[in-house]
Amino acid sequence: MQSYQIPLVPGPVSVPAAVRAVYQVDYASADLEADFFALYAACEGKLQRVLGASTSVTIHTGEGMLALWGALKSVIRPGDRVLAVGTGLFGFGIGDMARQIGAEVETVGFPFDAIVEPDAVRVAALRFRPKLITAVHCETPSGTLNPLDELGRICREVDALFYVDFVASGGGAPVDVDRCAIDLGLLGSQKVLSLPPDLAMVSVSDRAWRTIADVGHAGYDALAPWKDGPAQRYLPYTHNWSAMAALNVALDLLLHEGIEQTYARHAAVAQYCRRRLEEMAIRLYPVQESYSAPTVTAAYVPDGWTWPVLDRALRAQGMAVGGNYGQLAGKLFRIGHMGSQADPVLVERGMNVLAQVLAAGAQE
Ligand SMILES: *Cc1c(COP(=O)(O)O)cnc(C)c1O
Repeated sequence: MQSYQIPLVPGPVSVPAAVRAVYQVDYASADLEADFFALYAACEGKLQRVLGASTSVTIHTGEGMLALWGALKSVIRPGDRVLAVGTGLFGFGIGDMARQIGAEVETVGFPFDAIVEPDAVRVAALRFRPKLITAVHCETPSGTLNPLDELGRICREVDALFYVDFVASGGGAPVDVDRCAIDLGLLGSQKVLSLPPDLAMVSVSDRAWRTIADVGHAGYDALAPWKDGPAQRYLPYTHNWSAMAALNVALDLLLHEGIEQTYARHAAVAQYCRRRLEEMAIRLYPVQESYSAPTVTAAYVPDGWTWPVLDRALRAQGMAVGGNYGQLAGKLFRIGHMGSQADPVLVERGMNVLAQVLAAGAQE
C-alpha cells in the first residue's frame, strides 16, 4: 500500500498519530461495560458542543452513508412527501435515495456551482407540503457551502422535518443545529473529525424522535433503539469501542484548539488554497467566492491537462488530491483541506508541488 506524503483528498482524510494510537489499545472485554457507556455519553456531550445541539446526538458503527440512510428510513414511509434541495451530487442523490424507499419526491434544483436560494424552496414547500425537507451543508464534489438557517425556518413554517447532511462540514464550519432548527443532522467520522470511516453520528431533535417512534423503522440502520438505549445500557449491536475511544480523543483535540479557532483555521487554509490556485491561473469552480466551502476546494482541471494525467503527475510527487463524480468527473479536481489536512504547512507544500508539476507540463 502506498501512503502519500501530501494527503489532500477530501475524505477519508489523514488520521493523526494521536488518534491512530488509540486503535492500538485492546478494548476486547465483556460487552456493555459501564466504562463504554460513560465514554459514549462523554462523546455525545462533546458532539453537542461542536454541533451547537441541545438535542441528542446518536453515535453508530458505520460511516457517513449509514447516517444518511438510517435517518431517511427512520422518518419516511412509502408515499410520504420529501422535498430535496439539490445544489450538487449529494443533494440530488438524497432525493434519489428517498425515491428508492418509496417516497414521493420533488427536487428543487440549482446549478452545481451555486448555492440554495431559499425563496424557491419556500414556494415549493408551501405548494408541496412535504413531511421532510433535505439539504446538504457542504457539497463536497463541488466545494460549496449552503446556508441553512432560512431553510430551517421554512421547515417550521410548513411543519416539515429538516434533514441536513453536514458530513463534510461538521467540525470545520458552524452547523448550529439548534439555531438552524435541524431535526436530523448527519455526520461521518472520516471527514473533519479525521478518524477512520468507522462511525456515523446523527443529531436528533425531539420532533424527529416523535416521527421516528411513529414510523417504527427496524433494522441495523434504525435510529429508534438509540433514543433510550445508551441511557438504559442496551444497544442493538456490539459497538466499536476503539472507534469511540478515538472519537473522544479527536473531539478533545478539537475542543482544546477551540471551536472558533478550528473554524478560523479552516477558513484561512481554504482562502490560501484559492489564492494559490488563482495564481496558477486555475479556475475555481463556484462562481462566487462566498459560495466556497472552508473544507474543500473544487477547481477546473487546468487547460492542456486531463484529470488522469494530472492525478498521475501529482501522485508521482507524493501528493493525492480528489477527482470527481457524475457530471463533474474529469472536469474538476478537489483539494481536501478538512480536519488534520486543514494544515497551512501541508496545503502550502501541496500548492508548491502543484505549481512545479504544472510548470513541468503535461507528459503522457
Ligand atoms: C463523504 C460524504 C458523505 C459520505 O460519503 P462516503 O463517500 O461514503 O464517505 C456523505 N455526504 C457528504 C456531503 C460527504 O462529503
